[in-house]
Amino acid sequence: MFTLAQFPLPYATDALAPYISAETIETHHGKHVAGYIDNLNKLIANTPYESVSLMDIIQESAGKSDEQKIFNNAAQVYNHDFFFHGMCPKCTAEIPDEIIEQFGSAENFKKQFKDAATSVFGSGYTWLVRDGDVLRIINTMNADTPIVHNMKPILNLDVWEHAYYLDYKNKRANFIDAFLDNLVNWNFVAENLKQ
Ligand code: MN
Repeated sequence: MFTLAQFPLPYATDALAPYISAETIETHHGKHVAGYIDNLNKLIANTPYESVSLMDIIQESAGKSDEQKIFNNAAQVYNHDFFFHGMCPKCTAEIPDEIIEQFGSAENFKKQFKDAATSVFGSGYTWLVRDGDVLRIINTMNADTPIVHNMKPILNLDVWEHAYYLDYKNKRANFIDAFLDNLVNWNFVAENLKQ
């Protein structure tokens, strides 16, 4: 059994305003993530997955057509926990040097990340990942997650419509700008780059 309390927000629901409203955070975390957890609990009840860690459920169910629902809900719990930890209110840390070195400049990194996030057609995420020795920006669809593709997540942005529609309506590009310019927790990013 998983609970929402195991995946708490690292800040108050109104802490990211005005860039993300309390209503969006309350719905996104308190309803959507809670829903994925409820679904996952129902799907794994009375199966061997009942006593397995979330990460192991994701790895074990990935690519198995008869376990697609288990994978989707488990991966969504992970993807969202990572997303919420990748933001902070009044962040002051600087973008890490390694990102500037690989992408040429902070502006170039942001441009490439924004281009990728803008191009997600449908529901998905944009990620900065470590893939072997290099940092790459990739998109994943639906609940897919880099951890089942041998890539290490460094940062992600949820571009499912539920992530921004209450605040930005159809203007996803404005949400992406607000995220990159005001919300990214570069300390979290720096920690992920070290590991
Ligand atoms: Mn979401």
